[in-house]
Amino acid sequence: MCLFCKIAAGEIPSTKVYEDESILAFRDINPMAPTHILVIPKTHIPSVDGITAENSGLVAHIFEVIPQIAKGEGLTGGYRMVSNCGPDAGQTVNHLHFHILGGKELSGQMA
Ligand code: 5GP
Ligand code: ZN
Repeated sequence: MCLFCKIAAGEIPSTKVYEDESILAFRDINPMAPTHILVIPKTHIPSVDGITAENSGLVAHIFEVIPQIAKGEGLTGGYRMVSNCGPDAGQTVNHLHFHILGGKELSGQMA
């Protein structure tokens, strides 16, 4: 099982922010902003490259929940969502995840 599958299964502890039957949001262990949350599907999808017509409903669900999480975190000034896909993007955990970053004025540098 990969690291985030273990977190989804509760085998590795995490600070949960949101959970339902298909997705989980938890705080990043090494936050890059005052709010830094990772949102994952509970099922293993390796990266954005693994999104298909069969599983994209999960991604749509994640995108529906993200504004609720942002509201709950009080990110009234806005936030950034990032998903690193593959080595050039620096993906370090090969389980699809979306970063939510906010709580400060973020760097204007995208890449
Ligand atoms: P990536 O670099 O793949 O886009 O993002 C992986 C993220 O997972 C990193 O921001 C890293 O800090 C976070 N991370 C790695 N291991 C753990 C862990 O065990 N627990 C939590 N909560 N976050 C982790
Ligand atoms: Zn996994």
